[in-house]
Amino acid sequence: MEKLAIQGGYPVRGGKIYYGRQWIDEEDIQAVAKVLRSDFVTCGPKVDEMERTLEKYTGAKYAVAVSNGTAALHCACIAAGIGAGDEVITTPITFAASANCALYCGAKPVFADINPETYNIDPESIRAHITDKTKAIVAVDFTGQSVENDEIRAICDEYNLIFIEDAAHAIATKYKGKQVGSLADMTCFSFHPVKTITGGEGGAVLTNNEVFYQKLVLAHTHGITHDESMMEGAPHEGSWYYEEISLGYNYRITDFQAALIVSQMSKLDKFAARRKEIVKRYDEVFSKLPEIIVQKEIPESDTCRHLYIIRLNLDKLKCSRREFFDAMSAENIQCQIHYVPVYWFPYYQHLGYEKGICPNAEEVYKAIMSIPLYPAMSDQDVEDVIHSVKKVVNNYKK
Ligand SMILES: *Cc1c(COP(=O)(O)O)cnc(C)c1O
Repeated sequence: MEKLAIQGGYPVRGGKIYYGRQWIDEEDIQAVAKVLRSDFVTCGPKVDEMERTLEKYTGAKYAVAVSNGTAALHCACIAAGIGAGDEVITTPITFAASANCALYCGAKPVFADINPETYNIDPESIRAHITDKTKAIVAVDFTGQSVENDEIRAICDEYNLIFIEDAAHAIATKYKGKQVGSLADMTCFSFHPVKTITGGEGGAVLTNNEVFYQKLVLAHTHGITHDESMMEGAPHEGSWYYEEISLGYNYRITDFQAALIVSQMSKLDKFAARRKEIVKRYDEVFSKLPEIIVQKEIPESDTCRHLYIIRLNLDKLKCSRREFFDAMSAENIQCQIHYVPVYWFPYYQHLGYEKGICPNAEEVYKAIMSIPLYPAMSDQDVEDVIHSVKKVVNNYKK
């Protein structure tokens, strides 16, 4: 048996690889440089182009580009009219922003449990958490797999709730043949560097609903409008005149970030194909290892994975998740854990959330880790990851 690097053996590879990273090429750099030499570094034509590109790609009627994915979620909650006293149902296995956005609006995040096989929010658990204060559902396409859109839509219709899809992981995913972004009342994307495409920072909200669209536009630019038909105060005094008609924020994205995102969008299909190829290879190998559980996919989702998660079958291993993670790290495979249940964080504990409220999420959390997945990985990188997982499994299996 190969000796683990953590026990003094040779690591599987020399240089470290990480669970995710961007792929920016010369063409992307030129696109950004061109904007920096132009008249507009913000509020210019590239932001418009980014929005039209996202509309075309997703099939949604309207896109609003914003400064990051968290801002996208905040704007969606504002547009949904979420406020003090409201409840917003979301999943605990997500990045904190999916729940924080409710808090920003004075509302209470309510955590529904996940499906223990797909790791996505369980529609039955959503139902169990609905009260007369529930206003919206923030459903996260975790790892890129689409949530059960039809089931969640049905719940929203039945209880008159707004369906916000946090698709930070899922820009290239389809549900029943329809592109994510065209399905929920509002869909939020993130363009952080670990996500499928990047703008350095960046985000967007997609919607088919004109009323939401108008509110999103206001929310991300101070609630200010130049549109005379929307004004209600003093008479239009000249071409300089604008009014603030609601409370908004500065969540604008710059033109050079938008240029990077537009340039990256042209590579999205290529990135998605490579991600799918790597996932297929991982699935092939890991589904044969009794010590590893692979994430289950619903047939409705044609998934472009943002993350690849292995779940350890701890009953068949002599090590803890921590020991497995550290052993991988010593082999120079830097994994990450997605995610600590949001309500476990001290801030949420201080708000009064108790541990144990979502048993599936907590059980899954204890055994998962994300292994490297990004389109610029070479075949050798992929095989190194596989080799390392097998090496660690072999050393620790019972
Ligand atoms: C990354 C992420 C966000 C936040 O996006 P930022 O662009 O980093 O603000 C929100 N939700 C999920 C699920 C994410 O992964």
